[in-house]
Amino acid sequence: MAWIKQIRGPYMCYTVEKDFLTSNLIEQKPFILPDLQKPEHDVALDIRKLRAIDVLSLRFLANMDEMLEKKEHHLVLVGGEPQILSQLLALRPIRHFPTMADFEREFHDLNPALVKSILQLAQGGVGFKMLQLQCPLCHFQEVSGFVLDESKYNLVWSPSEIVPIMVPSIPEAERIDFSCYRVAVCPSCFFASSRPDHFGIRFPEGEIKSILKPEQITNLHLGQTPRKAIAAEYRESSKESFFHPPRDADAGFLSWKLHEACQKQISQDRRFVDAFEIVLANFMMCKYASNDRVIDDHLHTALAWLNNVMQNQDQYSSLRLQQAYTFYVSGLLAIDKVSEAHTAFRDFEHKFKEDSSADFWLQRAESLISESSRS
Ligand SMILES: [Zn+2]
Repeated sequence: MAWIKQIRGPYMCYTVEKDFLTSNLIEQKPFILPDLQKPEHDVALDIRKLRAIDVLSLRFLANMDEMLEKKEHHLVLVGGEPQILSQLLALRPIRHFPTMADFEREFHDLNPALVKSILQLAQGGVGFKMLQLQCPLCHFQEVSGFVLDESKYNLVWSPSEIVPIMVPSIPEAERIDFSCYRVAVCPSCFFASSRPDHFGIRFPEGEIKSILKPEQITNLHLGQTPRKAIAAEYRESSKESFFHPPRDADAGFLSWKLHEACQKQISQDRRFVDAFEIVLANFMMCKYASNDRVIDDHLHTALAWLNNVMQNQDQYSSLRLQQAYTFYVSGLLAIDKVSEAHTAFRDFEHKFKEDSSADFWLQRAESLISESSRS
């Protein structure tokens, strides 16, 4: 029987069975090879169940990585017994995540080691720091990026907002509305992203290259004219200083609007669009919008994309799903769809009740639901 395979975030993920011996290899090969010859995704092997492997099968896994690399994709491993891992890694230094949670985190967020180096090297305040970024498309060198040292902040709920905010946990940390700074924007071609590692990051000590793949860069190049048209709606946006601090609400709004555009442009295949990022961008546009009509438009757009997240749950990490459920309940209540919000909450509770990491999100959804029942 073929290994279970499913899309997990940006990966095609195979669940490797307990035995992977030559006889199993012969059986699996016809199912796996087409995915390696024309890969659409990077490949992850979940080897948490694997207990027995022989030399030929080990060799095959190492070759998988080599084949993918030729097609500009790569292989990662999740879990695995130390003894099996050491044999495999001796053949080839394949990237490895100890647990499923470590693997999932990287679907959407910077890897923790990179965050640590960025924070050490970045200039600026105690908690709020600046980065000098280089645009991966037009190579403009002076893009301002911003990072927050999250160890100096707490995530808290604000009664008037759907998305929680960061407040300092120590007095020295800057009080800042970080959402307004989270998206870095190239003032030349209006490429925008909430991930600093989509840009080149320049430090006096050296440079970290953009993680974007060549085909993503090509797709984003093609989107330059529509991005410029979006930016042109704001007369001041042609000034290089428009996105510098202090950013006003217009700069915050436009940064998220461009981020949304880039998320849609980055892949020609709609299946690979990160719907959660588009949801977040639309909630942020609600936050910085200039009037009620604009708020209403973006609230409805956010809810439409939340539906997309709910229908493609496999593509998201547990944390993203917990956030998405909370935002969904909140958004539905905001447009008075009370019974739909209750259904979404029951579904959320059913999926994550046993998971203590979901508490922060689940409790928020619960309190909104009980408020709506009282009113
Ligand atoms: Zn640029």
